[in-house]
Amino acid sequence: MGNDIADKIEKAGLTGRGGAGYLTAKKWREVAAAPGEKKYVVVNASEGETGLFKDIFILKNHTDALLKGVVLALDHLHAKDAYFNLNKNYYREVGKKLEAAIKPLTDKGYNIKIFVEDPSYIGGEETALLNAIEGKRTEPRSKPPYPSMSGLYANPTLINNVETLYNVACVEDGSYKKKRFYCITGPKGRKSVHHLPDDWDIEKILKDTDNYPKFDFFVQIGGGASGTVCDQDQIKGKLATGAGAIEVFDKKKTDPRKLLLRWLEFYQKESCGKCTPCRAGTYQLYEMVKASREIPWPKMFEVLETMEITSFCALGRSVMEPIRSYYSNVLKLS
Ligand code: SF4
Repeated sequence: MGNDIADKIEKAGLTGRGGAGYLTAKKWREVAAAPGEKKYVVVNASEGETGLFKDIFILKNHTDALLKGVVLALDHLHAKDAYFNLNKNYYREVGKKLEAAIKPLTDKGYNIKIFVEDPSYIGGEETALLNAIEGKRTEPRSKPPYPSMSGLYANPTLINNVETLYNVACVEDGSYKKKRFYCITGPKGRKSVHHLPDDWDIEKILKDTDNYPKFDFFVQIGGGASGTVCDQDQIKGKLATGAGAIEVFDKKKTDPRKLLLRWLEFYQKESCGKCTPCRAGTYQLYEMVKASREIPWPKMFEVLETMEITSFCALGRSVMEPIRSYYSNVLKLS
């Protein structure tokens, strides 16, 4: 093993923090090795899922470290061109600060641009965001080819989440301590971001951050739409680690029908409409729950199973997870 940045990243065991958990060093090497004169870095700051707000925290509070991560990526690829993919609410909050921090890098010959888009969940899917930057419809592409081989304008492209690039800067300067950012929506709906060891379980995180409820509760982990739902007795131990988002729910005060409608309304709104199973499925699910007094579980699972198998991208396939886990882990209906 040599001493370049990819080796340091590998040694630190860094994995992507955008959800897929892909090995960061592997991705960097793939793009570096891909044939092509022109290469790009794209910073995914779309963060379009409810319950996630760590990227905006990093953008605001660690702007320079994040940009250092971008420059390390560009230098590794012998490239100059990078895009920040920022939803317009985030641009309003941090656009000026980011532009000011980019300016000295422009003077050094880097070409770092901010692409502003409407907030959307699908806008964070890596190929959908490439389409958006190219001025096409914000919908996913078929994979392969993967962006590391053929990404922005068909050139090899390194797409990393904000937190991943921040971590790279910490790895480079020796300050990386195997921590991750957690977005917590606590017992009273209070939102907070914490930087804590990545091997803590949910129970420890909630207790340490003063978010452990005094009432019976359950949590949704990993995101306020696609995240897995766990009961109070499932938040201890190894399986309950690694979630970048935790939302606490009061068991007695949560109406199952209203919770389902919250998830399904989100998915129906966010479906990009490219494929029928997701476009029609999210609509049908929302309408069938809205129209029924009793939740029509068997009919819902029929639709969800079809969506899980036949949807074109992860958005349609992920609708099952919160509903199935809530059904089994909290309502204990199976
Ligand atoms: S699964 Fe949904 S979001 Fe994904 S391509 Fe199909 S319609 Fe679009």
